[in-house]
Amino acid sequence: MSETRIVSGTAEEEDRQFDLSLRPQGLAEFVGQPKLKEVLGIAIEAAKARGEAMDHVLLYGPPGLGKTTLAGIIANELDVKIDLTSGPVLQRKLDLTGALTSLETRQVFFIDEVHRLFADVEEMLYSALEDYRVDLMVGAGPGARTHSIPLVPFTAIGATTRAGLISGPLRGRFGLTLRLNPYEAVELKDIVDRSARLLGVDIDDGGAEEIAKRSRGTPRVANRLLRRVRDYSQVRADGVVCREIAQTALDLLEVDNYGLDEVDQKLMRTILGKYGGGPVGLNTISASIGEDTTTIEEVYEPYLMQLGFLDRTPRGRVGTKAAFEYFGIELPKRPQQNLGF
Ligand code: ADP
Repeated sequence: MSETRIVSGTAEEEDRQFDLSLRPQGLAEFVGQPKLKEVLGIAIEAAKARGEAMDHVLLYGPPGLGKTTLAGIIANELDVKIDLTSGPVLQRKLDLTGALTSLETRQVFFIDEVHRLFADVEEMLYSALEDYRVDLMVGAGPGARTHSIPLVPFTAIGATTRAGLISGPLRGRFGLTLRLNPYEAVELKDIVDRSARLLGVDIDDGGAEEIAKRSRGTPRVANRLLRRVRDYSQVRADGVVCREIAQTALDLLEVDNYGLDEVDQKLMRTILGKYGGGPVGLNTISASIGEDTTTIEEVYEPYLMQLGFLDRTPRGRVGTKAAFEYFGIELPKRPQQNLGF
């Protein structure tokens, strides 16, 4: 293994620890997503009042927006235990049976990347979610019979970045399906302020705003950038993070002004440059940039639309005037009718 890989592995582990230490514990501490919080708050209160397990919840949205954090918050608010697992970990039906039969009454069972369950494991989950039981085949051939194992009532929370890949039957078994949207810059600023407080980082409004703006609508990115800027200000400045320090540090790290990553940039440049602003079909974009259509739709486009760089129209994707300006690409001489501006 090369030295760089060891270093990057360590950095990832540090990021993970850092994420954990900054996770809000209660719904009130969870910044943004007001509609989702209201719906969840009601479901939590109702379940507590009835003394029953809360409805199963499916959380979907781009990575780093707070799905795992919310699962923890739900368990805290319900005052129950949480077990965490993920689609790829539950490889065999026995893995799922083992996990389900050791649950405590009303506890939370969190399944990350729920779109990556194998078909037979997913099928087994149906009866677990619907009737709190799992059916196991005992024996083989003509003598085989089904053995039904009862489970305690529990709350499953599924998380996915790829809602489009969740099968109808699985989706139908979650009582609540909630989408997380990219955060607004003001919300991200609150998150940066909160994290800075917890970490004891001295930051002013300008510094927090600059980090928020470049965080790609994503709390995980905001926390990561805060950490990099803190390092920079400790070493190169007096330790106080102001706008100028944040700008210099983030420029040095080549973080785009709006936090756009490589794929965002490739996607926008394809639409604006190669296709003159569109309209261009999703499949064409997918073929051009080598990302699959669901990832483009569910991971990349939400933030680009929030920035006002991209519109979805019936004829395809369209780049906006603001996008042409930001990328410094000249508007086509005669804009097509459907350019949307
Ligand atoms: P996901 O599971 O969607 O990938 P996480 O729940 O792991 O995202 O969130 C990543 C990090 O971002 C967490 O460590 C948490 O500190 C922070 N975070 C996410 N959402 C919020 C929020 N709404 N308010 C404050 N911090 C948040």
